[in-house]
Amino acid sequence: MRAAANLNSKEAISMRFSSCYIPTLKESPADAEVVSHKLLLRAGMVRRLTSGLYIYLPLGLKIIDKIADVVREEINAASFQELLMPMVQPADLWKETGRWEHYGKELLRFKDRNERDYCLGPTHEEVITDLVRGEVRSYRQLPVRLYQIQSKFRDEIRPRFGLMRGREFVMKDAYSFDADIAGAEESYKLMYDAYTRIFKRLGLKFRAVEADTGSIGGNFSHEFMVLADTGEDTIAFCHDCDYAANVERAEVVWKGEACTGACPDYEKVATPGAHSVEEVAAMLRVPAGAVVKTMLFSVDGKPVAVLVRGDREVNDIKLKNLLKAQEVELAGAATVEALTHAPVGFAGPVGLDVPVYADLELQGATDYVTGANAADAHFRHVDLRRDAAITAWADLRAITPEDVCPRCGGRIELTKGIEVGHIFMLGLKYSESMHAAFLDENGKEKLMIMGCYGIGVSRVAAAAIEQNHDENGIVFPPPVAPFECILLNLDPRNAEVTAKAEEIYAMLRDMGVDVLLDDREERPGVKFKDADLLGAPMQLVVGGKGLARGIVECKDRRSGEKGELTVDAIEEDFSQWAAGVRRGWETQQA
Ligand code: ATP
Ligand code: MG
Repeated sequence: MRAAANLNSKEAISMRFSSCYIPTLKESPADAEVVSHKLLLRAGMVRRLTSGLYIYLPLGLKIIDKIADVVREEINAASFQELLMPMVQPADLWKETGRWEHYGKELLRFKDRNERDYCLGPTHEEVITDLVRGEVRSYRQLPVRLYQIQSKFRDEIRPRFGLMRGREFVMKDAYSFDADIAGAEESYKLMYDAYTRIFKRLGLKFRAVEADTGSIGGNFSHEFMVLADTGEDTIAFCHDCDYAANVERAEVVWKGEACTGACPDYEKVATPGAHSVEEVAAMLRVPAGAVVKTMLFSVDGKPVAVLVRGDREVNDIKLKNLLKAQEVELAGAATVEALTHAPVGFAGPVGLDVPVYADLELQGATDYVTGANAADAHFRHVDLRRDAAITAWADLRAITPEDVCPRCGGRIELTKGIEVGHIFMLGLKYSESMHAAFLDENGKEKLMIMGCYGIGVSRVAAAAIEQNHDENGIVFPPPVAPFECILLNLDPRNAEVTAKAEEIYAMLRDMGVDVLLDDREERPGVKFKDADLLGAPMQLVVGGKGLARGIVECKDRRSGEKGELTVDAIEEDFSQWAAGVRRGWETQQA
């Protein structure tokens, strides 16, 4: 990533459409699935090179630079310092932490001419820990707080949605090294607050949520989610307190009492062709919640059964964390058939010879329907404690709006979000395996306490569009927009109109407004369409008819509200109107 050093100079922030490379498209590209991807392509901001790899065209790069500038300012203000590490990393470091084996296929590995192993950095904990352990000896040198803004590579299994999930993408990654827990918590808090300021300044509606630590690991973490219906993540939040968590992690408190009621002996019943919970429940005339869903997983290669109520979903991340596993996958049909001696759809815990983990909520009743591990058959009247060998009872399902807030017992709601940032309290995870130690004030050796903090800079660009668009195109929040104002010269052949447009263009530049002048010899209709598509928050229209009346038309892209600025008082009129447009964005975000 190049540094955006001269972004504030007047030359860099001004543009003429006629001499800019802005290849807008009339048609919506067929292969783009989500709106941000479609609009970024249509607005001539990015182009796809191949799966998960994108070229940032000049306007796209401008967006990235603007986001990066806000990120830089706030991370600097949090007293972290910028550095730049290589994207290529030696395998030896990854072997020290064990991630060379465990990171999986997202890590792109290759050899150099001397047959030495390398990878492309998906994240930089190993490299930065290696740097700091080699330099820092004493508690007096701590804390160390560093960050970079750089391209990352992750060989995602399903790159999709344009900049939302690329293989190469721009990330801000920060790392902190502290002498004690209090210091580490302070570093974490500095970042949490900086992230809050960043996403506020960028004009985005967002929420910080408790999150799973995934392949980065560590003690606890928060994700920053931009709220948008198209988000890949689901957030559970409490109506009554400030609890919010990714559903991957949201704890489900089961408040019921374990049922000890009598249950008749279990018996086999024929359920021909009934594979799904719904089919079984309908056939046996019981509610779906009286059927036990038995799911077989392969956990680090070994089979495991998980039971949840028929109307619930298994949360495989909770399973992974419970079993401290590296990899959890649904078992394939062949495995299911081999273990249950039946086709998929008839698995049950009675007589099943694998470890069985049951969701806590199943303790709420004794009389269940389960698969019979035989084709076209189920058992009814199953008492799980009596008839099955349950290895452990645990919280294994995803939270639902029927559940209560784990913190205050309040009402839970679900909403969709896009993860744009993630902060982790790493604790000793990397300093232990890589031995990043220092001498404390008593000369005793201690391990550094680490934190790491990411923002998906390129994903932020896409998320801003997912949250802010309409049928005509992008509606950029001012701080993300490649230019804040687009100035349309409706009649470039008319000397008077052109002279006025040029005058206003110069004035806006002097006022420090980032402006694009549409000076192309195109029909007004084309210019209006492109102006809406490109998403500048403010539009000014200079035309012969308006000038005859002494006015220039203005339009707030977000509200669609139009107005008139007096030519004779243009500077003052514009300032007032622009302040209103900017304020509108601030209040909608607050
Ligand atoms: P996800 O769950 O979406 O794969 P992650 O948990 O793997 O994300 P982190 O390792 O926390 O992501 O990376 C930090 C940030 O980088 C994320 O919050 C996200 O904004 C961004 N990011 C991660 N993967 C991608 C990707 N493939 N494309 C674009 N941005 C990404
Ligand atoms: Mg990921």
